[in-house]
Amino acid sequence: MVTDLHSQLDLVRDYVNTFDLETGIDTISSPDELATWFSEQGLVDDLVEPTDAEHTDALALREAIRDLLLVNNGVQADGDAASRTLEAAGRAAHLGVRFENGRPLLAPEGDGARAAIGRIVAAVAELAPTDEWKRLKGCRDENCRVAFYDKSRNRSRAWCSMEVCGNREKARSFRQRHAHAR
Ligand SMILES: [Zn+2]
Repeated sequence: MVTDLHSQLDLVRDYVNTFDLETGIDTISSPDELATWFSEQGLVDDLVEPTDAEHTDALALREAIRDLLLVNNGVQADGDAASRTLEAAGRAAHLGVRFENGRPLLAPEGDGARAAIGRIVAAVAELAPTDEWKRLKGCRDENCRVAFYDKSRNRSRAWCSMEVCGNREKARSFRQRHAHAR
């Protein structure tokens, strides 16, 4: 299962990035695709069959986490509503404290789709108090919103890629400045 910080960061980032806002492609757009993704990530032992309600909750959780990553990037987003969504998903998965070799960790009950969703909530809960978490951000470009890990020394990266989103922003503010100058 997912335990160390880095695989948790990857899990959370990859989960948010299952939806590509620019292309509109959602790799978990159906319960079956969600089941495949959970399986590929090692979140379930056997292939599960998420219900429509579980699928809907999984997508809501994904967007709630994206909002938290936007907040990490200084973007206005409803962090409180996002937190409530995470809490509800954690409750539905019966997240509780388990001890593995004396080390406490959050784990869901059972092994279905709810539990897989719970494992993602647990990853966020374990990451949130760490410095690493603040580096996990949602891209500031409103047409992008990709989740990325900011490796910069002063944690100042705003865009997933300077070449694409950063330049797009520079071009936009350039146009705006010149529009005002007229
Ligand atoms: Zn971007």
